[in-house]
Amino acid sequence: MSQIKSSSQEVKQVVIVGGGTAGWMTAASLAKYFQGRSAKILVIESSEIGTVGVGEATIPNIIDFNNRLGINEIDFIKSTQASFKLGIQFENWSTPGSEFFHPFADYGMKIDNVDFHHYINRANTEGFNLKLQNYCFANVLAKHGKFAQPHPNPSTPIANYSYAYHFDAGLYANYLKTFSLKLGVQHIDAKVSKVNLRTSDGFIESLELENGETIAGDLFVDCSGFKGLLIEEALQTGYESWQQWLFCDRAVAIQTRSTDEPTPFTRSIAHENGWQWRIPLQHRVGNGYIYSSKYESDSSAESRLLTSIEGETINRPRHFSFHPGRRKQIWNKNCIAIGLSSGFLEPLESTSISLIQSAIAKLLTFFPDMSFDPADIAEVNRLHNSEVEHVRDFLILHYKLSKRTDSEFWRDCQSMEIPETLSHKIDLFKSRGHIISHENESFEPASWLTMYDAFGIVPKRYDPRANLPALDMITTNLQKMKDSLDNAALQVLSHQSFI
Ligand code: FAD
Repeated sequence: MSQIKSSSQEVKQVVIVGGGTAGWMTAASLAKYFQGRSAKILVIESSEIGTVGVGEATIPNIIDFNNRLGINEIDFIKSTQASFKLGIQFENWSTPGSEFFHPFADYGMKIDNVDFHHYINRANTEGFNLKLQNYCFANVLAKHGKFAQPHPNPSTPIANYSYAYHFDAGLYANYLKTFSLKLGVQHIDAKVSKVNLRTSDGFIESLELENGETIAGDLFVDCSGFKGLLIEEALQTGYESWQQWLFCDRAVAIQTRSTDEPTPFTRSIAHENGWQWRIPLQHRVGNGYIYSSKYESDSSAESRLLTSIEGETINRPRHFSFHPGRRKQIWNKNCIAIGLSSGFLEPLESTSISLIQSAIAKLLTFFPDMSFDPADIAEVNRLHNSEVEHVRDFLILHYKLSKRTDSEFWRDCQSMEIPETLSHKIDLFKSRGHIISHENESFEPASWLTMYDAFGIVPKRYDPRANLPALDMITTNLQKMKDSLDNAALQVLSHQSFI
């Protein structure tokens, strides 16, 4: 009979290096998990080094994360100066002057198990000019600057969407820090100056701090940001560059005072060599420009940003340099990298905090004992790698499908070779409008559909089952649906009033 492992094999000391969003999200989750159990959690951060301080737009699974911690939504909104996000408004992406909305939502509803967009395609094949974007309540709300939480009855089209938040990254980290410290997490403000590896197997044994202390641990979580102090500088795990597909590798950011009510969406505005974000919070607006250093200098990027923002600036422009790609393994020996230390693609679809969440979820599911079973570690790496590859493909899609030809940057995006996984998906959609989903996909079929539709990819044929209902029945019902969404939106409060 197999024996249950004794408590001497349990991980007793978890050491998290880093007190940014990743560090405190990890600490809060582990503290909640370990409440009343034996493992101790310690966060080491250096206020002298500071945090990256950006990362203020999220996707809807942040709501699950907060809920699991037992965080009250109203308290969270007040404490982090948050606003609500129904999706992203993309401007100038397909061509200069064009616009579309990527909602956290489905379009219409399936009819007889056939996806809604096939009926739109059928009607349009027969001479109508119906716009998919009109059949999504989140789009209609966003267009009018309104916000409501989804209707509790899931069978109505006004329940068919989710939402996320924009928040102040510094306030969110502080909020989770307070939460974690209350649950017994220990905290040291000091710089790690050396990482000691065990000679027998290369596992991390201890960290030396600049104040002379030595900190031993069983499991180390690297939340030290881009440099990957433990996972890379100490363990030399390796990094895979994806810059052949994602050209942007620089950013410049600045905060401004709000000039009007916060929009219930992030704005993403394409420029000649990249794109600009605008993230509205309650007390200010976060602005930034993401670009490729191959096509634009830092000084030109800074002036481009400064000439395209609205409102009085609050701080000085901050410049960031990053390398789009991923760490070859997020878990190596007794160290798991969470946050920027595990890799970074770019902020286009606000996926970085969501990847932090899913890495934490994997750590909890596969929480190790002192044997650090290689099977568990391999599975976490496999799951993470496939998840981040799907995100990568979704981001590449935005650049590849653009029709902009006004700069070398956009022309190069269109002519680049893309990963086979992505070209397969695009080919399937072009053939008959089907969207396949893989294990671990962060983006639902409706998100892919938004991109295809917005960038003008029309399938050669639609699902033949969409031919079953009479055409006038389809178009009458679609008109009714559109009217009911427009009418429902009239009843809803403005985003500002809702906050
Ligand atoms: P950091 O914030 O860099 O924290 C690193 C921590 O490690 C700090 O506390 C630091 O003090 C500590 N540290 C480092 N070295 C040492 C040492 N030697 N000793 C002790 N402590 C040390 N994500 C989104 O989801 N949405 C967005 O809209 C978004 N926008 C972004 C825009 C830009 C331009 C960039 C660059 C990133 C963006 N991200 C976004 C990503 C997001 O900012 C990060 O995922 C998130 O902030 C987590 O960062 P982190 O905690 O991993 O690293």
